[in-house]
Amino acid sequence: MIVLSKTERKIIEEAIRDVKDFPKPGIVFKDITTILNDKHAFGVLMNHLYQRYKEYNLDYIVGIDARGFIFGAALAQMLSIGFVPIRKHGKLPYTTISEKYSLEYGVDEVEIHIDAFRGQKDARVLLIDDLIATGGTATAAATLIKQAGAECVEACFVVTLTSLDGYKNLEEKTPVYSLIEVK
Ligand code: AMP
Repeated sequence: MIVLSKTERKIIEEAIRDVKDFPKPGIVFKDITTILNDKHAFGVLMNHLYQRYKEYNLDYIVGIDARGFIFGAALAQMLSIGFVPIRKHGKLPYTTISEKYSLEYGVDEVEIHIDAFRGQKDARVLLIDDLIATGGTATAAATLIKQAGAECVEACFVVTLTSLDGYKNLEEKTPVYSLIEVK
């Protein structure tokens, strides 16, 4: 199985910008726009994902709203497979399946189109997002993939915040692959 080399990890790590106190005091926001506008780092990242996932016999990539769309759609094109968005409540126009999950304060909800996998039974799916923190969003997304009739074969994140248990909880549902781990 292909994993990130030391050199590749360094290039990607250095391209991530830490923005302190965004969106609120005490949060260090991992800004991946500085990977996207760095053609070398973006290329290294996408080439790595392609090399790893070309052997997975995937049918679809599912990306989480909104930064998961960027990596997910680019990878789907490279692998010549379809892309499916999971979006925040009320954004998808057709009939949806939805899943609520808890936030620190309150609840949020994500949705997938009911026919996202075009009626294909047990489609092999990779779930992708830029970052996993509490894991609430990704765990709800993995549940939606199953409810829509597909199999989530792995969940992939550019950054995993290991100080939170999000990735551990998600691992109970699906294998998790992280490129960069941050405390
Ligand atoms: P969670 O459901 O707590 O795992 O949050 C994951 C979602 O929130 C992802 O879509 C991330 O893009 C975003 N997110 C949460 N924390 C951060 C952070 N420190 N830096 C950047 N994005 C974050």
